[in-house]
Amino acid sequence: MSETSDPALAKIEGIRVEFGGVVAVDTVDLQVRGGEICGLIGPNGAGKSTLFDVIAGVRTPTKGCVQYDGDDVTNKNSIALARRGIRRTFQQVQVFGWLSVADNVLAATEWRRGGGGVLADLVAAPTRSALRRNRLERVEEVIRSCGLWDHRDRPAATLPTGHARMLELARAIVDPPRLLMLDEPASGLDSAEAERLAEEVHRVRSVHGTAVLLVEHSVPFVMKHCDRIVVLDLGSVIAEGSPDEILNDPLVQTAYLGHSK
Ligand code: ADP
Ligand code: MG
Repeated sequence: MSETSDPALAKIEGIRVEFGGVVAVDTVDLQVRGGEICGLIGPNGAGKSTLFDVIAGVRTPTKGCVQYDGDDVTNKNSIALARRGIRRTFQQVQVFGWLSVADNVLAATEWRRGGGGVLADLVAAPTRSALRRNRLERVEEVIRSCGLWDHRDRPAATLPTGHARMLELARAIVDPPRLLMLDEPASGLDSAEAERLAEEVHRVRSVHGTAVLLVEHSVPFVMKHCDRIVVLDLGSVIAEGSPDEILNDPLVQTAYLGHSK
């Protein structure tokens, strides 16, 4: 198959991850195309977060390969992949608790530019100050669109869960991602907060053509917001299809939906 005709932005093939004797992920194939929201669901321990770690370059798989934007990136580290537009949020919110909301978002933009020391700062001063202005404008835009403007000076650690999850999203999208991986982003949110978050995810997808991989326990949330859903159980894909196909799949009913809230 030629790479140029392949519409998948990210494609994993035959991924297996073992932790000692435990097989967390067993021979998983998965593709995510630009501009689609792909749900990844399955019971606790199914291997969803482990798969995220593999795609984000945090964990090297025991077997299999990860392709991204036409390249084999299986052994690339998370920083290299972040530079190529992969962003993620975590099941447990991860922000800099002692920094303000605004500084948390600003910090998520700092890695791309700069470098080169004092000499580069002098030579590139005009460019850099323009870039800094642009960055600050973008930070303000994201803080506003994520509903965090009134909280911008608060230390992140003092935010209630709803705002903390939005802050994590703001950090992930301030530099528009090509692949956005969200690990249970609506966990701990009430339905209004979850819808607010989903609205922002849809906006990023439609403005930037971002591919989204979404892990979420709330079945109605996943059904409503995903174009396609992949179901993992005990480390393997047991079903894949549209929300309707997944709802009506007998294997999924038994393995997952039958036991969900
Ligand atoms: P999910 O996100 O679907 O709940 P995980 O990917 O967190 O599942 O976990 C999949 C399996 O791998 C589970 O059995 C879990 O206990 C195991 N596991 C995950 N991370 C580790 C680790 N760092 N060390 C050992 N086992 C792990
Ligand atoms: Mg998990």
